[in-house]
Amino acid sequence: MAGEPQSDCLFCKIVAGEIPATVVRKTERVLAFRDIAPKAPVHVLVIPHVHYPNAAALAAAEPEIAGELLAEAGAVARDEGVEDYRLIFNTGAGAGQTVFHAHVHVLGGKPMTESMV
Ligand code: 5GP
Repeated sequence: MAGEPQSDCLFCKIVAGEIPATVVRKTERVLAFRDIAPKAPVHVLVIPHVHYPNAAALAAAEPEIAGELLAEAGAVARDEGVEDYRLIFNTGAGAGQTVFHAHVHVLGGKPMTESMV
């Protein structure tokens, strides 16, 4: 069923507490934890508890949770004391996605003025 935990999904295992993570925020529907290989002084991943392969699929199926994901990303930045930050949704292997459970990267704490778009 859509949104159900997947036994082979790393982030489902983090949600279930089967794999440890440094959690910085947790709600009934969303979890935020530090990336294991940080690319910036602040690098936090915000994920829904439910399993969808990417953020667009989450938004299409469960828009309220997708909205909460974004709100929590903003809350992480506020908690971490970063006013300027970058949100990244890698979607598809060709775009660098390696974990196929919806997530947004919150990156900050260093100048990121180089634009990719
Ligand atoms: P993606 O490349 O799919 O957009 O992002 C996946 C992120 O998950 C990567 O930045 C990677 O460093 C992070 N990651 C991979 N395995 C683990 C893990 O076991 N724990 C944590 N906290 N992050 C992980």
